[in-house]
Amino acid sequence: MTTFTHEFNTPVFGKKVSFSSGIFIDNEFSAGANNTTIDLVNPSTGQVVAQVSEGMPADVDRAVAAARRAFETTWGLNRPGYERGQLLTKLADLMEENIDELAALEAFDNGKTFMAARHGDVVSSIQCIRYYAGWADKNHGQTIETSEAKFAYTRHEPIGVCGQIIPWNYPLGMMCWKIGPALATGCTVVLKPSELTPLTALRMAHLIVAAGFPPGVVNIVVGYGSTVGQTIAEHTGIDKVAFTGSTAIGRRILEASAKTNLKKVTLELGGKTPSIVFDDADLDQVVKWSALGIFGNAGQICTAGSRIFVQEGIYDKFLDAFTKHAQSIRLGDPFQPDSWQGPQISQVQFDRVMGYISSGKEQGATLHTGGTRHGDVGYWVQPTIFTNVRPDMKIVREEIFGPVGVVIKFKDEDDVVRQANDTLYGLAAAVFSKDIKRAMETAHRVQAGTVWINMSQYGNVSVPFGGYKQSGIGRECGEYALANYTNVKAVHVNLGHVM
Ligand code: NAD
Repeated sequence: MTTFTHEFNTPVFGKKVSFSSGIFIDNEFSAGANNTTIDLVNPSTGQVVAQVSEGMPADVDRAVAAARRAFETTWGLNRPGYERGQLLTKLADLMEENIDELAALEAFDNGKTFMAARHGDVVSSIQCIRYYAGWADKNHGQTIETSEAKFAYTRHEPIGVCGQIIPWNYPLGMMCWKIGPALATGCTVVLKPSELTPLTALRMAHLIVAAGFPPGVVNIVVGYGSTVGQTIAEHTGIDKVAFTGSTAIGRRILEASAKTNLKKVTLELGGKTPSIVFDDADLDQVVKWSALGIFGNAGQICTAGSRIFVQEGIYDKFLDAFTKHAQSIRLGDPFQPDSWQGPQISQVQFDRVMGYISSGKEQGATLHTGGTRHGDVGYWVQPTIFTNVRPDMKIVREEIFGPVGVVIKFKDEDDVVRQANDTLYGLAAAVFSKDIKRAMETAHRVQAGTVWINMSQYGNVSVPFGGYKQSGIGRECGEYALANYTNVKAVHVNLGHVM
């Protein structure tokens, strides 16, 4: 079995961190069934820096059996909601005690900056666990009178064993969005982190044990998508799968469910977010939000504002200011306090992003700024802006998942709404205008699960999040997510209606 050990000696975090990084089943760590390991690569340098145990389909079988046992004995309907809430609160407390370490692991694994992880990802992950701790004893059903002599009541019963498959761009955040509502409602979990970024999930496993969760409630099997992920998607012992990742794999998750036990499926998939900038927008603010929108997290955000539509009257001024801002972004070591942008996650993603940049040039777009590699090692891409694009170009149609945006001129509301909606995706949109009526009217006409007015990329765990069109099925966060993890049972009661 593997152990992760690393001496962090950085300006923002200096501590030796060491923990078991095996397969986590029944509150214990072990080697994977084949006794093999997965190399973790530092995206800043491209060097292998650690190993974790590799899970196999047989490990998923073990994890599912453990999750089923826990569901039927110590969790599910066997533990009152307030006790589940207490355990979640304890977990949030432990996360808070280890906040810097979790941020360091997230930055180490993913390449995002420590500052962004510490003040963004980890803080919001703790909020998420606390938020669902609060829901654990408030997930009530309804009473419905059906006649003078009859009534029905509903029970929100936990679905059972849930498979949860998450991506690498917000490893801890995605984990908490998944386990929070599942555990609050009484489900048990078999979680597969991305094979690229498993460290925070494995550290969380230790906190889950320390918080006092019974064995089998949370099980974590690190492994590849084609083995562990596919097995979870097909497993007949799993009652529900929650997936966050690409639309292509989301389709396969749905197919696997259809071909096996019709397990419930929720999907959070890709996006091609339009940012709509009207003439009267606050230029300084819109430039900052747009930069966060497309360059934040090195563009590796499902809601990245990759299509920036700017009205004719402000187009030149916006482009000038936005370009200057892009050129001033500090790319640098994620553990330096003043670094703003880190590397892409992997060689594969780096090549993919550079491939899109080449295709933009080949298809005749104007490379306005960026477009090249940053540094000699690792997977760094400069903030990149294209102009003079056509709607049929790949850089306009496809999700790039890198710091590459297109800026497009528009005339009026009708024109921009038509262009913004000309996409297979519908995850998010942003609208910038001082005229709140115009901003809200546009927000209502855009086909997206989230619309920001005069901001971008803002998330709050109490607000639902999910996609229209091919960006997904279902909603995470907020009260809405509880429905993903519960079956509604209607019980009809006869008080005197005689046949
Ligand atoms: P991905 O689809 O390649 O992988 C996501 C997860 O699925 C990983 O854990 C991976 O190992 C696993 N997987 C891969 N093949 C599988 C298979 N055949 N069966 C089961 N699981 C499999 O996506 P990624 O590259 O990790 O993440 C980037 C994508 O995620 C982007 O498209 C992005 O838009 C999307 N994303 C969406 C949201 C959202 O909430 N809508 C949030 C974050 C990321």
